[in-house]
Amino acid sequence: MSDFDLVVIGAGPGGYVAALRAAAAGMRVACIDERATPGGTCLNVGCIPSKALLSSSEHWAELKSLADHGIETVTASFDLARMMARKERVISDLNKGIAFLFKKAGVEFIHGRANITGPGRVTVGEREIATHHILIATGSEPAALPGVPFDEKRVLSSTGALSLESVPDRLVIVGAGVIGLEIGQIWSRLGSQVTVVEYVDRILPGIDGEIAKAAQRIFSRHGIGFKLNAAVKTVAAAGATARIEIENRSSGAVEILEADAVLVAIGRRPRTGGLGLESLGVKLDAKGFIAVDAQFRTSIPGILAIGDAVPGPMLAHRAEEDAAACIAALAGDPHDAPDYGLVPGVVYTAPEIAAVGLAEDAAAGRSILVGKSSFLANGRARAIGATDGFVKVIGCAETGRLLGAHILGHGAGELLQELVLALRLGATLHDLAMTSHAHPGMGEAVKDACHAAVATQRQT
Ligand SMILES: Cc1cc2nc3c(=O)[nH]c(=O)nc-3n(C[C@H](O)[C@H](O)[C@H](O)COP(=O)(O)OP(=O)(O)OC[C@H]3O[C@@H](n4cnc5c(N)ncnc54)[C@H](O)[C@@H]3O)c2cc1C
Repeated sequence: MSDFDLVVIGAGPGGYVAALRAAAAGMRVACIDERATPGGTCLNVGCIPSKALLSSSEHWAELKSLADHGIETVTASFDLARMMARKERVISDLNKGIAFLFKKAGVEFIHGRANITGPGRVTVGEREIATHHILIATGSEPAALPGVPFDEKRVLSSTGALSLESVPDRLVIVGAGVIGLEIGQIWSRLGSQVTVVEYVDRILPGIDGEIAKAAQRIFSRHGIGFKLNAAVKTVAAAGATARIEIENRSSGAVEILEADAVLVAIGRRPRTGGLGLESLGVKLDAKGFIAVDAQFRTSIPGILAIGDAVPGPMLAHRAEEDAAACIAALAGDPHDAPDYGLVPGVVYTAPEIAAVGLAEDAAAGRSILVGKSSFLANGRARAIGATDGFVKVIGCAETGRLLGAHILGHGAGELLQELVLALRLGATLHDLAMTSHAHPGMGEAVKDACHAAVATQRQT
């Protein structure tokens, strides 16, 4: 007799959602995590702490614009320790929320490192557990530069960079992706001189090029420096500081950057090592992700995998959607596998960047319609002083159906949501342009962009 129907390894947004769904479907479930607090990377060292600090630092940065509203602040200061304490409180409250949900649903949370010793067999320390199914939701970890291990003092991963005890005077960030830019903006607002070094010749690879270029201009205006098309050659400790040697990939010119800390944000890799997968013969792809089928089954019967540990967008909401689909299939009620083409991505900087579906520069050879609307022409944006950015929609020239949407601007992530639904439902640009949007609202720019795209359709 097995102890459980399902043992989930990892209590991140993939694992804890799967555990709760499985318990709701009547299964006996345990969820194991080597962290004492459930919530995974997302809650403990990722999405939530970064957004908490983005919010605190944004309040600080906003003080500078208050005079324009006729509000004078006589003196103002910030206390980093209290900012960090608030971030920890936010995390801890949410940790407790998941622990409560586990208790209510009858999910046993086991703290410890799990090892799979065979199909249906998991060990955690001395404890041996028998289970019908094993779900691997072990997530991912920050990738380091070759030969440059994280010491979390001078060479930081995102985890260290979200827990600094003082503001570094000079912070070099390697990697102009989502994590590098969000954390860069936090420390830049708090007073660091931030320089972002990026290997390719643009920021935010994967995001629509026009949006990324406009975002870079705004971030530069806010004081963040960029070294694009630059390869990091060496990172060396020099007393209390670090020396970063970079080489321009076109000219070969070498430059030395001095910094008090270096954040390496060059991506994340799946956490699949040390679980016993090699001896079990669980198939991995060339990048170390666990290979799964549409129902998240690995190559070994009874072992499933979801979230950052399997190929697909490395995002918390995607992990949750994997969890729901995986458990529905396991419970004998399979629904469609998640469509990763409909997964939105948001960069929570100010202004925000949000995207779903096709980007213009990825549409080569396709006949498309493009419509744009600037927030400069939007009444609400003017009223609240958030005129940076624009909405860009991409549609199919033949059918008029929405294919992609990209927004740079205040609240872009929330504005995108109607376009994600429109994409899922196969709506046309005309449908969106004919939908009433409340005035004055930032959302009117979405409607205007769709109108602009429809107008280009009429002209052709
Ligand atoms: C700084 C930062 C900001 C981010 N911001 C966002 C954002 O704004 N929006 C977004 O959607 N995504 C964001 N992400 C990505 C998001 O955190 C991940 O996509 C998400 O957490 C993946 O969920 P998961 O359940 O697959 O794995 P994880 O959340 O990584 O959870 C895996 C868990 O498994 C545990 N584990 C691993 N191996 C073992 C083992 N052998 N035994 C026991 N336990 C084990 C780990 O301790 C971990 O708690 C961010 C990430 C970072 C680092």
